[in-house]
Amino acid sequence: MSRQVDNVIHVPGALILGAGLAGLFTALKLSPFPACIVAGAQAGTTGSSVWAQGGIAAAIGPEDTWTSHLADTLAAGAGTTDRDIAAVVASEAHTRIDDLLRYGAPFDRNADGSLALAREAAHSAARIVHVSGDRAGAEVTRCLADAAIAEPSIDILEGFHALELAMEAGRVTGFFARYGSGAGAKLVLFRAPAIIFATGGLGSIYAVTTNPPESRGEGLGMVARAGAIIADPEFVQFHPTAIAVGRDPAPLATEALRGEGATLVDETGRRFMTTVHAAAELAPRDVVARAIHREIGIGHRVFLDCRAALGAKFAEHFPTVYAACISAGVDPTAQPIPVAPAAHYHMGGIASDTNGRSSLPGLWAVGECASTGLHGANRLASNSLLEALVFGARVADDVKNSVLITATRSEPPAPTRFAAPAPPQILRETMAKNVGLERDADGLAAALATIGSLERASGGEPSLLNMTATAKLVAAAALERRESRGAHFRLDYPQAEKSGARSFLTLADAEKIAASVPEKSRTARSS
Ligand SMILES: Cc1cc2nc3c(=O)[nH]c(=O)nc-3n(C[C@H](O)[C@H](O)[C@H](O)COP(=O)(O)OP(=O)(O)OC[C@H]3O[C@@H](n4cnc5c(N)ncnc54)[C@H](O)[C@@H]3O)c2cc1C
Repeated sequence: MSRQVDNVIHVPGALILGAGLAGLFTALKLSPFPACIVAGAQAGTTGSSVWAQGGIAAAIGPEDTWTSHLADTLAAGAGTTDRDIAAVVASEAHTRIDDLLRYGAPFDRNADGSLALAREAAHSAARIVHVSGDRAGAEVTRCLADAAIAEPSIDILEGFHALELAMEAGRVTGFFARYGSGAGAKLVLFRAPAIIFATGGLGSIYAVTTNPPESRGEGLGMVARAGAIIADPEFVQFHPTAIAVGRDPAPLATEALRGEGATLVDETGRRFMTTVHAAAELAPRDVVARAIHREIGIGHRVFLDCRAALGAKFAEHFPTVYAACISAGVDPTAQPIPVAPAAHYHMGGIASDTNGRSSLPGLWAVGECASTGLHGANRLASNSLLEALVFGARVADDVKNSVLITATRSEPPAPTRFAAPAPPQILRETMAKNVGLERDADGLAAALATIGSLERASGGEPSLLNMTATAKLVAAAALERRESRGAHFRLDYPQAEKSGARSFLTLADAEKIAASVPEKSRTARSS
């Protein structure tokens, strides 16, 4: 991309890319150390954070312990979770929930004033704090955005589309971002002593997803293109119960519905999870998602039946899901909800350590774009917002302790909202078909070939190259992992074999893997 910039903005402290829960919380924990949050759209309205329905896991209940939360996290991770990281997260959870209460998070409470705790799949105790049933993400993110806007040490710049890292002498010193669109688009270079990526997930590079359009792996791709180590990219979680009414993105029917007793049935009313797993509908997400995928694959339709478990309480307890159903012509108090799996959460990401440092000096990563090792091969429900909080606080401490505030910043330009090109439909389709819930060598080779052709046809558009870099890392790591584990299922290698080792690779490694695929396999299956 051309380095001819229209403006250079010097930020004196931390420069945070992303205004979801991870970016906002990190900025608040940095205060009074100066932070500037740059994001595509208005803080408090953007990213997956606003859409989170279930809530945040924390061992708060009188009978619960953080070691029990740790054990559940390790069990869900299918042998690939980093135990030390999971212990850090489970043991610091309560303190981070106290932080949110101080920022005004309106968590639901019991009649005696204690926090109301819900149970979700694969948790051995009720330990999810929530807001108005299913509005945790929207309400907590709004609170944090209000607190950040009111905080004098935090600047928030909206409407910028970040495209590429700026590196000086091997250190990340900023990023290039575009604002405006078409002929009027301008390029800005942001520079700062500490750069923090909080850019969220990658769901929208898949054809069927629960993620908002801005969650398309651009932050991960940008960092990978600068040479950073990426961890576990092959582990993509599919939510079992997206509401299947033909919408893009697909609205979500939260796991908490199954926690309340809702059952999965086919078009005849047959409940099939009881024959798949001892925990039936509360089995780990990958097990439930694959069971639904297979039922659909053999011609059934699948529904979430909430009538007996919730009935008339539905609208009050789950207002977001209720509204999504009603707007699609489904009354969940009277009818089962049609559901199907959808790309939902990326366990992999920018490899980051206990303080959120990436492999590139000067760059930290936090939230869904990071891979700390907490989630292993399969995330435990409601652990992702928690991870963003725990590492947001750790990144803030590390930056405050290691970075010096530099000269004052220049005045920012006034941007319009960015109009970033959407991921090409062919990319989304090949990811869904060949790098989805069930994978095999031929399909992955075909996906890598399609990604390669899109790159060659990109004309050097950095936004597209960020997305294809992310897609390539997911597909290449999935091809290399010749086993099945957690969310990664290989039809040609159905057993777990690699004793839980995590994957660490760079984009150059992924390119070598793609180049080593024999021509015959690349064309064996069209993508
Ligand atoms: C429907 C749904 C329900 C969920 N429910 C739960 C739940 O109950 N509990 C739970 O723990 N987790 C849940 N999750 C997952 C959780 O919401 C996410 O993992 C978490 O919110 C990620 O937060 P984040 O701050 O890292 O990223 P996000 O909230 O996605 O924010 C990313 C930010 O980066 C910005 N950005 C990205 N790329 C660029 C770019 N190139 N230029 C400029 N800005 C950019 C975006 O605009 C956005 O501001 C859910 C996810 C979904 C989709």
